[in-house]
Amino acid sequence: MSDFAYQKCIDPRCGSTFDLLEVLSRCPKCGSLLDAEYEWDRLDVPGSLAWFEERWAGRRNPLDLSGVWRFRELLPFAHEPAVLTIGEGQTLLRRADRLAPDIGLAPGSLFLQFEGLNPSGSFKDNGMTAAFTHARMAGAARAACASTGNTSASLACFAAASGLLEPIIFIGSGKIAYGKLSQALDFGGKTVQINGDFDDAMARVQEACKETGMYLMNSLNPFRLEGQKAIMFRVLEGLGWEPPDWIVVPGGNLGNSSAFGKAFIELHRLGLIKRVPRIAIINSTGADTLTRLVNDEGLAWNGGNVDDAIIERFYAKMDTAGRRANTIASAIEINRPVNLKKALRTLDFTRGVVRAVPDEAILDAKALVGRSGIGCEPASAASVAGTQLLREEGLIGKSDRVVCILTGHQLKDPDATVWYHSLPLDEMRGKLAKYGVKNAAHQNRPVPAANDLDSILKAI
Ligand SMILES: *Cc1c(COP(=O)(O)O)cnc(C)c1O
Ligand SMILES: [Zn+2]
Repeated sequence: MSDFAYQKCIDPRCGSTFDLLEVLSRCPKCGSLLDAEYEWDRLDVPGSLAWFEERWAGRRNPLDLSGVWRFRELLPFAHEPAVLTIGEGQTLLRRADRLAPDIGLAPGSLFLQFEGLNPSGSFKDNGMTAAFTHARMAGAARAACASTGNTSASLACFAAASGLLEPIIFIGSGKIAYGKLSQALDFGGKTVQINGDFDDAMARVQEACKETGMYLMNSLNPFRLEGQKAIMFRVLEGLGWEPPDWIVVPGGNLGNSSAFGKAFIELHRLGLIKRVPRIAIINSTGADTLTRLVNDEGLAWNGGNVDDAIIERFYAKMDTAGRRANTIASAIEINRPVNLKKALRTLDFTRGVVRAVPDEAILDAKALVGRSGIGCEPASAASVAGTQLLREEGLIGKSDRVVCILTGHQLKDPDATVWYHSLPLDEMRGKLAKYGVKNAAHQNRPVPAANDLDSILKAI
């Protein structure tokens, strides 16, 4: 398949192309981002999305069982023998009738795409299977990533399952949720704790990869994003191939938002969908670079001619003010999102919007998601809090069909959940003061009881 795949710089002022098997994380000519590109006209692409349902009968083939590779004609870069699959992407689109009224939507309007069901517990596995496959095709020996936690868990998981690449993980020394750190260590990843935050770790890992030729597994890697397109294919599948009105996704390094936009650009170009959903990207107010750049500074895709001066000015101001990303939603605690320009392309193509929601709203939304029977981590709930905000603004209509992406599993970050639910309010405020969390609207505190039946019966 890969004879018709190559890499291409996304900046039309450059537009350089590179061989599929070159290991690059940015355009060597201009430093911009790279896409995986295809000569679609020369490829055999199914005439309708419903064609993919044939694969449901072929579940003995591991590629057909994978929620990524059963759509392989839509990410046609892989040499099939090189594919590494561990059952990623067997996730569900769930109709959320209990949650819908809580956030102002009519029953039947809200759907949750629960990516916590992946082998390592987050959506990152969708991208990792694809990048890992490309790394094998390119003959890489070591792979590295910077991570707020889930990328490292995923990389270490794929590496351990295959024994194929040595995983080197860069984390900041501040926050990493315990569930995620424990995974990286348990899966045997070599973990380097850098004295800095995620943005620092991201900068250092790129330098280290450049210096040593290690294969970079962050979402700068265009092949990771190819795998993450499959999340949208499955959402469409879950809706009988009828695009929803809105896709709402948390925004961190903006890999998902970028991948989703690319998926819709390609599906539309291939004639496989007629209507394109609008994409809403949700930041935390504690890490809101995209929101500020787009809504306040007027930054836009502009046909690919992104005004770099706006970005540079913004980052310079951020550095002068000493502003660092700070949110309880650690997976989106990122102030220099590497996929910024691709996310602008997504916003442009999908008539998308960007919003920031405070951490208190994120934790409240997470508790509501929990009560509806799905366990997600804080960053994931930003999508639900963002939907609620866009309902209040009236941009999302009461009966619009909305899909929230729940990016990671509840057990990734048990501390946040336990603090929110179990602490007396003043103690909770103390713990969460630096995130501006003052209340816990949906708190569910354990009730103390003496060790005798009478007290227990009184308590329940
Ligand atoms: C990585 C991650 C995000 C952020 O996704 P981006 O693609 O970097 O924007 C959000 N939620 C969870 C749980 C994650 O692991
Ligand atoms: Zn270029």
